[in-house]
Amino acid sequence: REAAREILESAGRRDTNRLGVEAMGLLDAYGIPTPGSDIVDSRSDAVDAAERVGAGDEVVMKIVSPDILHKSDIGGVAVGVPPEEVADTYEDLVTRARNYQPDATILGVQVQEMLDMDAAVETIAGMNRDPQFGPLVLFGLGGIFVEVLEDTTVRVAPVSEPSAREMLDEIEAAPLLRGARGREPVDEAAVVEAIQRLSQLVTDFPAIVELDINPLVATPDGVRAVDVRLTID
Ligand code: ADP
Ligand code: MG
Repeated sequence: REAAREILESAGRRDTNRLGVEAMGLLDAYGIPTPGSDIVDSRSDAVDAAERVGAGDEVVMKIVSPDILHKSDIGGVAVGVPPEEVADTYEDLVTRARNYQPDATILGVQVQEMLDMDAAVETIAGMNRDPQFGPLVLFGLGGIFVEVLEDTTVRVAPVSEPSAREMLDEIEAAPLLRGARGREPVDEAAVVEAIQRLSQLVTDFPAIVELDINPLVATPDGVRAVDVRLTID
């Protein structure tokens, strides 16, 4: 709770009300698992971070800027970057961000552990404050499908465990989570726990007016929040 408060306060000092992956520590503080990651602001630090985070394997690299909300739209996400390409990819990401918006605030580049997406389902877990009902927690199919399929469901926070379970049951994509067509089922208990922890976070911090974890990657071994964005008051 203290760690989360500090992250929100330091964001306030930076004079922005929009936060992205630089705020992933908030999720860690509330026990929502995130992949190993580091934010760097030079080529050489990117190489070091990739070595640490990726342990010799490929990594994912993302531009970190409060002015760029949809990173992939501007080519700001590089998936499967091998160690020898990390330095150049660092430059590429920063250049793309500058080209897109010359005066964008660029906080750096996030170097992230690359998850095995073979048995994964990209879900979304989020929150919007409704003037009438208060914080509404949302769960559904995530990734690029979220706008296309609009397969989501909501509950008023705080969300109890039975309610979180119901949310899983309710979405059209429920069979996908449960292992349709010979797929291995994802760790449902971990998804339920993540929904509840998110609900707790937004209940504890009314200053968070909007939050999206997209995707919350669900696998047979658990969940990992790989992207987050939020708006604070
Ligand atoms: P944005 O939503 O701003 O475009 P994301 O961080 O959500 O950026 O990344 C876009 C997509 O890239 C994700 O939906 C996911 O498919 C893939 N991706 C992102 N991070 C990882 C990761 N650590 N491991 C594997 N795939 C990832
Ligand atoms: Mg995303």
